[in-house]
Amino acid sequence: MSEAEPQFALAIHGGAGAIAREQIGDKLEQAYRDCLRRILDSGAAMLAEGATALDVVERVVGLLEDEQLFNAGRGSVLNSDGEVEMDASIMDGATGCAGSVGAVRAVRNPVRAARAVMDGTQHVLLIGEAADTFARDAGLAMQQPDYFRVERRVTQWRKAREAGRVQLDHAATDPAANTSGGGSTVGAVARDREGRLAAATSTGGMTNKLPGRVGDSAIIGAGTWADGTCAISTTGIGERFQRAAFARHVADRVALAGESLEAATAAALHQLGEGTGGCIAVDARGHIAMPFNTSGMYRAARDGKGERAVSIWSGTR
Ligand code: ASP
Repeated sequence: MSEAEPQFALAIHGGAGAIAREQIGDKLEQAYRDCLRRILDSGAAMLAEGATALDVVERVVGLLEDEQLFNAGRGSVLNSDGEVEMDASIMDGATGCAGSVGAVRAVRNPVRAARAVMDGTQHVLLIGEAADTFARDAGLAMQQPDYFRVERRVTQWRKAREAGRVQLDHAATDPAANTSGGGSTVGAVARDREGRLAAATSTGGMTNKLPGRVGDSAIIGAGTWADGTCAISTTGIGERFQRAAFARHVADRVALAGESLEAATAAALHQLGEGTGGCIAVDARGHIAMPFNTSGMYRAARDGKGERAVSIWSGTR
């Protein structure tokens, strides 16, 4: 590999939505930026030491799940029963193997449960109580409902329920979603030093969703995809991404139609319509794309050239 060629690349997201700067406030904005930077740097350090893309996306998504700032793991939004139900998935582009969990309530890090499904079973997706039991039997850390359910999520859920809405964590129609300081779905895509690609996504889903609803974040090919060409993780209104088989569609545009990552992600997102969400993607050259069609998307990246960026709104803001 010549010096001009990429060594490794990593991008993470903390969700897309109607994120208004004036509603978040300086302090919270800084907290998001600091958190994204810290987690990006820890993943980049792993990649620099030769860790696989797969291990790194699992690790950084697990760190994002542990943060109350985001709608994944601790701090997940609540369903219409006022309960937390989480989805997560992971895919290894080098082997084509994948694992996911849907509507889990007790495993502390759903992304680790997804990895355990991938590594330890012949299946791709386990759901509900059985998936939590599987995670417990696999030796993963479990938590009581109070660990996941944080106060501002209860407030957010009550408002959504009163209005009869199922909504993204950051919904333009609900300033409380922003003032309560919630982040959104989390994800990571990586290219390691050997050129392997991987992606992972984790979420509490949409506020006030029906119990048992499983969104795109648990669906391989919709919210998460990785192959030899690119790796993708999405955020936004899950049903739209599911109907479009979004992540796989992006990969096909790159691999089969020969589009650049920018062109493929932008075109695929355009098809979903304004205000739907966004995605992060990396290709085999360590090139990164992070488009969104909401007002903001929490994101951070270190590309194959070593350029680092942490942004929330359009451009570099
Ligand atoms: N895509 C997630 C879902 O529909 C939500 C989000 O990204 O905020 O479950």
